[in-house]
Amino acid sequence: MIIVMEQSAPQAAIDRVVAEIERMGSHAHLSRGNYRTVIGAIGEEGTIDQNHLAALDGVEKVVPIMKPYKLASREFHEDDSIVEVGGGNVPVVKIGGSHAACIAGPCAVENEKMLNTIARHVRAGGATILRGGAFKPRTSPYSFQGQGEAALKWMRACGDELGMPICTEVMDTRQVELIERYTDMFQIGARNMQNFDLLREVGKTRKAVLLKRGLAASVKDWLLSAEYVLSQGNRSLVLCERGIKTFEDSVRYSMDISSIPVAKQWSHLPIIVDPSHAAGKRDYVPALALAGMAAGADGIIVEVHHCPSEAQCDGPQALLPETFHELMQQLRQIAAITKKEFAEAGEMVRA
Ligand code: PEP
Ligand code: MN
Repeated sequence: MIIVMEQSAPQAAIDRVVAEIERMGSHAHLSRGNYRTVIGAIGEEGTIDQNHLAALDGVEKVVPIMKPYKLASREFHEDDSIVEVGGGNVPVVKIGGSHAACIAGPCAVENEKMLNTIARHVRAGGATILRGGAFKPRTSPYSFQGQGEAALKWMRACGDELGMPICTEVMDTRQVELIERYTDMFQIGARNMQNFDLLREVGKTRKAVLLKRGLAASVKDWLLSAEYVLSQGNRSLVLCERGIKTFEDSVRYSMDISSIPVAKQWSHLPIIVDPSHAAGKRDYVPALALAGMAAGADGIIVEVHHCPSEAQCDGPQALLPETFHELMQQLRQIAAITKKEFAEAGEMVRA
């Protein structure tokens, strides 16, 4: 249920509505738009007295949110959300609204030297957030599983040195505390999109979250997963379309371009695309990245490796640094058409 406040409603009226919602055993979530404040009353169905809330001072109207996800819906928050990643030792990178962002780096952090080399390449090409897996969700238990905490340390040092926030995957609730100490953005992988305990746990932190779409999840399922994070108070969530399973086997997954306008219409959350895991092959990555931006995405996450034949994970889909640089130039042109702008790494200021 959302309580739309009158434009002139004083803070005291807002506080009163919040107090009444909490008294009824629900949680109040504030959304301050450009013109008005909207208060989401989220709790078990049937526990909120709508007429009582409608009669309070400063309340314009009370309307039910029809979508099953509430805080993630456009009904709750009309404007595009802008998520901030970083701060502290590294600049803040904004994603959403007119702010496009590029997250780039290796699939997995194999060693410190390769990370530093790739990070310099992607920063020079225009990436503003560094990606790299320390804990890898591999299909086979015998495949390389990541370098763990050592990789987190290398990522942190490299991000701090180059002035780039870092993004790394968390696979289990038991890893949240450790990874939170190092990262600026948690990545929830496609295979964990419906790991509800994990979603709640990162929702309790105040670090940004990148939520990949599950391999066989509908847009609705995906937004309900986002709702788990938001419901814990963490509003810094970015969606990521990374391709879904279809009968088509010429690519690794089918990137669902239509999910971008659909998610944009249903939700205020920013959405980026991951052309690397969708394609599975570097030849197709630039076209998918450009298509995603043209469809309205707020940026990309892409895998880059200077020596892909030696990569321990996802080498065939890693872009070479030169191709990544060319792609960024093309992406900037598409972004100009969709009224978005990629920040230049050098332009970013520390918070
Ligand atoms: C990754 O980003 O390296 C990854 C494993 O992604 P996904 O969860 O989308 O497969
Ligand atoms: Mn990968």
